[in-house]
Amino acid sequence: MNELLKVDHLTVDFSTDQGTVHAVRDVSFCVYPQEVLGIVGESGSGKSQTMYSVMGLLADNGKITAEDILFDGKKIHESAFKNHSEYEKTMQHIRGNDMAMIFQDPMTFLNPVLKIGTQLIEPLQNHTKMSKKECEQKAIELMRQVGIPSPEKRMNQYPYEFSGGMRQRIIIAMALACNPKLIIADEPTTALDVTIQAQVLELIQDMKEKLGSSVIMITHDLGVVASLCNRIAIMYGGKIVEIGTDKEIFYEPKHPYTQGLLNCINNPEDDDKDLQPIPGSPPDLLNPPKGCPFVDRCEKAMKICKQQMPSATAFSKTHECACWLNELKKREGKK
Ligand code: SF4
Ligand code: MG
Repeated sequence: MNELLKVDHLTVDFSTDQGTVHAVRDVSFCVYPQEVLGIVGESGSGKSQTMYSVMGLLADNGKITAEDILFDGKKIHESAFKNHSEYEKTMQHIRGNDMAMIFQDPMTFLNPVLKIGTQLIEPLQNHTKMSKKECEQKAIELMRQVGIPSPEKRMNQYPYEFSGGMRQRIIIAMALACNPKLIIADEPTTALDVTIQAQVLELIQDMKEKLGSSVIMITHDLGVVASLCNRIAIMYGGKIVEIGTDKEIFYEPKHPYTQGLLNCINNPEDDDKDLQPIPGSPPDLLNPPKGCPFVDRCEKAMKICKQQMPSATAFSKTHECACWLNELKKREGKK
């Protein structure tokens, strides 16, 4: 199957007063049409920055290097463009038409002094050839689709008049306005109550089915992606340490960090008794470790883990993990 998105050897560095932060370190993955890929990791693991780089939304002090970034068959890495403004123009078009983003906090995205209706109609006017009247109708229809009651009336209200869950529904409606091929959801439920979280995830799933889009779900909570994702990439210290199908990650996790994350999942049936947070803190990305990024927190760490970065070992066509335990086992087996 042809990939919708292909990211090849992506590295993202930020220059700061303290030095260079190596936020994303040689990351490669792809997203297939109509699939949901989860990108899971603690805050600072590089998951959001990976996707901001793909969308051309990186902060000014960020620098992207990549062998290739392909979206829908087109090269979208800046080096493929004549100049920066050409790149910006193309990315703006892609963001308005083919890729949509749902953020953690709807209030950072909504303009507090503009009515919701205006905010929904504007992108439709900018990115489609519909008349104002048609855009209005479409905005009402979108609000209805995402489950906002009495949309005609609510078009005239301001963001503060909506609850957190309702505001996130509006962001989803905005994201869907142009039938995107790819929806990127960055911690879309983190700011919401648990019951509302489930509703918003269900809505994203429904919308994906209706539009036939692919989804990238960025989250720190492996539990969130359990029911939603076809494949999951686990990020740690700016690297993808394991990637596999949902079943491979949940039932045959190979990386000690993935195994640790699974132990942290809140399982309602066992009354939190076995909940074990991973002790220690993530690596300093100003001075990332030379070897495995998880070495300081790993119970199974060996001498080689500190010295050399493990390369990815494949367990199946879909399952890869970068850990010396697996690499050494494979070498043993070959002897
Ligand atoms: Fe632990 Fe070593 Fe594997 Fe890293 S490479 S996860 S330190 S065993
Ligand atoms: Mg983030």
